[in-house]
Amino acid sequence: MTTPPANFIGINISGTQARAALVDHAGALLETNVAEVTPKQLIPQLAAMAEDLSRRGPVAAIGVAIPGLVNRQTDRVIAPRELPPTMVEDLHGELTRATGLRVELENDANAAAYGEYKAGAGLGASNMFYMMIGNGIGGAIILDGKLWTGASGFAGEVGHITIDTEGLECVCGNTGCLETVASGPNIVRRARERLHRDNTSSLSRLALNKSFTADDVAHQANEGDDFALMMIERTGKYIGTGVATVINLLNIERIVLGGGVMDAGSLILNPIIQEAKRRAFQPCFDATEIVIATLGLDGAPIGAALLARDASAE
Ligand SMILES: [Zn+2]
Repeated sequence: MTTPPANFIGINISGTQARAALVDHAGALLETNVAEVTPKQLIPQLAAMAEDLSRRGPVAAIGVAIPGLVNRQTDRVIAPRELPPTMVEDLHGELTRATGLRVELENDANAAAYGEYKAGAGLGASNMFYMMIGNGIGGAIILDGKLWTGASGFAGEVGHITIDTEGLECVCGNTGCLETVASGPNIVRRARERLHRDNTSSLSRLALNKSFTADDVAHQANEGDDFALMMIERTGKYIGTGVATVINLLNIERIVLGGGVMDAGSLILNPIIQEAKRRAFQPCFDATEIVIATLGLDGAPIGAALLARDASAE
């Protein structure tokens, strides 16, 4: 009897939550698992998750996706934006020592992109651009089956392309980045500003809820609230402007849009496509399919596991 091929674990760390996926050598999803993590106990907590998933058979490697950038040369976490306190600079080294397994560290947008490419909305495309629109806006480029991470690992930072040269200051130091208008927290900020400015918008149900989130804006838009609908449409225009830039730059076959903001579904996808069509070079636009991600929160852990698998095969 031959031993079965080993499995692979992917873990996405987001704030105080770690979401894990176990995949087999063929990429089939075997199990998912979610756990709370704390800054002080992060390494033993992740090691415990890995050990728990190892009960289904030997594990060959772990991929870890983080909401920050990873220097591919040094495997160190670097933080141009605010990272959750759970993040440790030498996550790679510490987790390798704690588990005895090979560890691959990757930016969460890159991992989610790889998950969608191999197992979600990117299936069938050879080249793909992925945008993650949530608390921040990240992006990733996959060319001929491989993540193209650039000279030092930071390619695809579409959230920091300039949309408004006179816009607000961004966490990256630039002003008027796409992220300063279209990320979840910035959708809320814009909605709040308008609610204060504009009397008719006080009819919106959002005016009744002092601590609404971007999810609430999407929910109210789905319920037919005119003000929420307008906010989602305008956000779609901003994102579509960014998408047009990507289309012109890469002439890419498929653009997959993920992250919490895309939970608004066609309400936001339609204005994105319209604006991209209006602004992009027509022959480039015609060659691009723009779709919503299908793996949801499992995209990043599945992608991290598949990145670990494919890095092990090299
Ligand atoms: Zn920026």
